[in-house]
Amino acid sequence: MIADHAAVPRWGVEPPDVDVSGRTFGVVGGDCSVTRRWARQIARLGRPCWQVDAAGDAGALDAALRDATVGLRVLIAGPEADVLAAAARCRAAGLADAELTLFATSARERRIYCAHCATTSIVDAQVEDVAPCGGCGRCLLVFAHLSARSGSYLAFQADAEDVG
Ligand SMILES: [Zn+2]
Repeated sequence: MIADHAAVPRWGVEPPDVDVSGRTFGVVGGDCSVTRRWARQIARLGRPCWQVDAAGDAGALDAALRDATVGLRVLIAGPEADVLAAAARCRAAGLADAELTLFATSARERRIYCAHCATTSIVDAQVEDVAPCGGCGRCLLVFAHLSARSGSYLAFQADAEDVG
């Protein structure tokens, strides 16, 4: 059984280095110090590299992944909610976690999945904070349970005993 459950990421202060075992690379994220650093490292390796401008641009990423070849390494930088969603698209396209390099430039916003109405919302909340559901309006507690498939955190009503 494959668990649809990823470890809650702990982001380092410094972005990780490029995996030099890659044969081709994709860099996903806007023009920032992180993506420029990765692009420089890949240029030194002299291997092909495509770029998608924003981690949140799902269509552009899916198009790039359609041409994915063996030995592809994808590096993704941006707000955590976008990075996790882009990583989920890469996994859906067949990439393994070891082929992904992720770095969140900010981790204030999270994508949460409401267990009650199945709406995914982007909220400004940490794990174990309470945030409103964009679908049903319930106050949801954000759990440290991250879906590898969707890149969203599971959230349940915070005060279930008070349901009216
Ligand atoms: Zn809801």
